[in-house]
Amino acid sequence: MSQPLSTVYGKKDTPTVRKGFSVSIVRIAALWPRSMFIQWTLHNPGSSSGYSFTLLYSGSPNGPWLEVATNLEDTYKYTQTTFTAKTDNSTDSLLKLTTARYYKIIVTGPDGSSEDISEVEGGLDRRRTGIVRKLRRDSLLALKKGNGTEVAIVKRRWFGEKCSCVSKTGAIIKSHCTVCNGTGIKTGYWEPVYTFGSRSTNAIDTSTRSSGLTEVQYSRVVLPYTPKVEVRDILVFLRDNMRYIVNQILTTEIHKTGVHQELEVSLLAPGSNDYAVDVGHWSSE
Ligand SMILES: [Zn+2]
Repeated sequence: MSQPLSTVYGKKDTPTVRKGFSVSIVRIAALWPRSMFIQWTLHNPGSSSGYSFTLLYSGSPNGPWLEVATNLEDTYKYTQTTFTAKTDNSTDSLLKLTTARYYKIIVTGPDGSSEDISEVEGGLDRRRTGIVRKLRRDSLLALKKGNGTEVAIVKRRWFGEKCSCVSKTGAIIKSHCTVCNGTGIKTGYWEPVYTFGSRSTNAIDTSTRSSGLTEVQYSRVVLPYTPKVEVRDILVFLRDNMRYIVNQILTTEIHKTGVHQELEVSLLAPGSNDYAVDVGHWSSE
């Protein structure tokens, strides 16, 4: 099994020194009622395109592997919905998640390939898997019907076609480029994921901190468990079009059994590059 890279932000992955790109699975979640969500990160891709992903699964980390999806390009996630109800014994049932289920992601790129394997739910037994799946659904329903409002999760791209505003040395020439929104990669962000979330400005003791000459307002946000949000992603609260950048992930996921995500975010200044990112009206998937 490949060694996962450190998930601590800003920490160097040691001791393996890799040349070129690598891939790691960052989230696997059984979702209500019968689907599996898999999310991955491509590390050190440069900003060139040409990466293709293949997703497989198995009951053992050593295989044999069955294909879930091939030739996935320009994406960072996949939702497997081919599971059937418990009564159908002939096909793959999510309720057969008794002991173990592994996913393998393979990326092939311009100069080689890389893969990562991860186990669903950290080896939870069937009953607990079912409970976690239900808790995640309940958490989403609580945000939808209770204290949450419509949110677009706009994840930042870390790979993709390089924008023409980037110079040969890799420096971004136009900081207000409308093609890449200042990121150097075309569009700069993935298609928004529409869901529900709650925010509270006063939950953090120091709700305003001085940063140079500008006061930055910090808020705490609760979102559903998927997709996994990372530092520098953007959240758009659609009712008032307030936009926030993610500073910090607050949830500690000791047993990989998170039910929701908690984040510290700060309000984006109107007129910043990120306000130009196109976000449509809320729509359910
Ligand atoms: Zn650009």
